[in-house]
Amino acid sequence: MGQYLIAADGAAGPLADWLGFTPHKVREAGILEITTAEPVENGAFSFEFGLAKNGCLWSFPKQQGYSLGASSFIGDSLKDLQTPLRQYGSTFGTGLERGNFYTHPLKLWNGNYPLHTERAVLAGECAAIVDPLTAEGIRPALYSGMMAAQAIDRALNGDAEALAGYTQTIYENWGADMQWAQRIAKVFFRVPKIGYRVGIKRPTATKRLGQILAGEVSYADIANRVIKRIGTSFVPGMGR
Ligand SMILES: Cc1cc2nc3c(=O)[nH]c(=O)nc-3n(C[C@H](O)[C@H](O)[C@H](O)COP(=O)(O)OP(=O)(O)OC[C@H]3O[C@@H](n4cnc5c(N)ncnc54)[C@H](O)[C@@H]3O)c2cc1C
Repeated sequence: MGQYLIAADGAAGPLADWLGFTPHKVREAGILEITTAEPVENGAFSFEFGLAKNGCLWSFPKQQGYSLGASSFIGDSLKDLQTPLRQYGSTFGTGLERGNFYTHPLKLWNGNYPLHTERAVLAGECAAIVDPLTAEGIRPALYSGMMAAQAIDRALNGDAEALAGYTQTIYENWGADMQWAQRIAKVFFRVPKIGYRVGIKRPTATKRLGQILAGEVSYADIANRVIKRIGTSFVPGMGR
């Protein structure tokens, strides 16, 4: 019989609740899967700011279609996910609003919480560690899974503090930066069009976002500058 448990059953799995962890807000995201008659040419990853209140839409081009997503990032889940997704779909071609619509839960990071009990740890999205600014959840899921396995290995070898050490590692190496991501998100998604103009449209922004997703630059390095830039954009002549 197993001595330790890694709970990794995603945003909607029951394990975190069964183990008595603090419940987290589960947001509903929308997905529109579109298949095109012809292969997509010159497809690029893109965002849309304006159709979804407190959030955005995004598009991942595929070889023969698009995978569109929509979610709020602050406040409550969007009540109507289909209308903005189908509107967005139509911008990629006539009739493309008729894709297959799905919803999927999303557990964004919303503070540092204990991720261990006496004999179990939470890893991946069930630990609510998804980036609250970009919804990036795969990298933290892989990272936390790896750290969880190492912690259990240490526990099996007699380290009584190994599981507590896991919580601490995730706080320090992920949660600390997510605090900054959340601060940016709270400003950005209140005024996404302005945030886009002063934050994302800048030539350096794509590079910075790439560096963040690659773990080369942290949100802490850029947050104050970004928040200040969005704030001063309300003052005529500033923040451009
Ligand atoms: C619309 C949308 C778009 C996203 N886009 C991105 C993106 O572009 N990049 C990115 O990094 N992240 C993205 N994410 C987030 C990312 O998909 C997740 O954070 C990541 O997949 C979490 O991985 P996980 O292994 O923790 O959970 P999951 O991938 O959800 O895996 C959990 C697994 O547990 C299984 N499970 C659940 N309950 C039970 C049960 N009772 N019994 C047995 N099995 C069970 C599930 O079937 C599932 O296979 C997106 C999320 C959404 C909703």
